[in-house]
Amino acid sequence: MRYERLKATTARFGLHTALLAVAFSPACTTPGDDVEYSETTHEISVTGGCSTSVVRGLSIQIANEVDCMSPSSLVRLEQSAGVKFTSSAVLPYMHSTARTDLVKAGNSARVLVNSGYRTVAQQYLLYRWFREGRCGITAAALPGRSNHESGRAVDLQNWSSRVTTMRNHHWSHSVPGDPVHFDHLSSPDIRGRDVKAFQRLWNRNHPSDKISTDGVYGPQTAERLKRAPATGFAKGATCGAVHRVLEVVQVEGPDLVAPGARAHYALTITNNDVADWPAGTRIAIADGTANALYDADSWTSPTEVGTLVEAIPAGGQGVIDLDIVAPMVTERTAVSADLALIAGTTTVATIDLAVTVTPDGDADTSADVGDDLEDIGADDGLADEDGVMPSVEEGGCQSTRGGGAGLALVGLALLALRRRRR
Ligand SMILES: [Zn+2]
Repeated sequence: MRYERLKATTARFGLHTALLAVAFSPACTTPGDDVEYSETTHEISVTGGCSTSVVRGLSIQIANEVDCMSPSSLVRLEQSAGVKFTSSAVLPYMHSTARTDLVKAGNSARVLVNSGYRTVAQQYLLYRWFREGRCGITAAALPGRSNHESGRAVDLQNWSSRVTTMRNHHWSHSVPGDPVHFDHLSSPDIRGRDVKAFQRLWNRNHPSDKISTDGVYGPQTAERLKRAPATGFAKGATCGAVHRVLEVVQVEGPDLVAPGARAHYALTITNNDVADWPAGTRIAIADGTANALYDADSWTSPTEVGTLVEAIPAGGQGVIDLDIVAPMVTERTAVSADLALIAGTTTVATIDLAVTVTPDGDADTSADVGDDLEDIGADDGLADEDGVMPSVEEGGCQSTRGGGAGLALVGLALLALRRRRR
């Protein structure tokens, strides 16, 4: 029970949210630069993690706004028997026709999705981690430029046995050096619309600080992104986006965990229901079976995690803290816990928690592997010395695993190499 405490509740659409910068290592920040706190931000714990799920709430708003701008360009991609997510970093959106074909492929042979649609907020983090030599990011496109911002890209954990199936459903497997990656080329490439969506959201929430809504990632946008609320703005998309009864707006915890290791997750959830979720609401495995992520030290039983100790009011937010222990596996394995919130005998909402258990020595890296080098846009990457992004030298950042700056410099060398090849 002590692990399932409810740490904080805030008013619906409250301003007191963790800012985008919370995911950066404290060692990589300077006061007044990357970390900015609203007055109650400390209620949400700050970590130096490697999962883009820390900006999930903001990313959902951006995805919804993109769909407002051009309907069907991004629709919700729900998990099913044939489509499983391998971590909480997977944002559940995709172009409608790409989604249709992915679901068909999955129904033919189950696909395990490492990464799908990414927003400019997620790419902003990946680009920063890449520049800082963190999180196992081998290459990252500038925000606005990643092929995962196209709405028609997916990375599969089980790619090697799914190439034919995916091809049979119009998914191209043709990016050299990026075997996990597939593109649905008959869907439109909507790169940049996420940038425009962010700009529109920013202006809606900051009428006295409006920026150009040109869809171009530049210094103005970068500066606002840095200060954007990770769990979402007070005012989200305007065209009637469907709110789920429970929306997970932030996950603080690893995408990848080593076999046998314990991991902690803080799930910030929004209660979009008309009723409060009372104290004592049970958090249990939805199908009632013993779960592989069971932590004997903190869970009530293998089928039950614990209970809410404080109510989450209708329209409010709360944070659920829980620990898991990764099962002993000898190969990369995606494991999930589909949690049900049960008030009395009624299931009021569900949460899908997913993690990849890795014996490959890459625990605590990002599930979003690097972008295709051809997609990086080397000229733009080098041109950002105009102040869009702090340089490695300015940041003076050292990876906690060592050699961070060196890795980042390797990245810069690759960019330079590519520039010369042009
Ligand atoms: Zn990819």
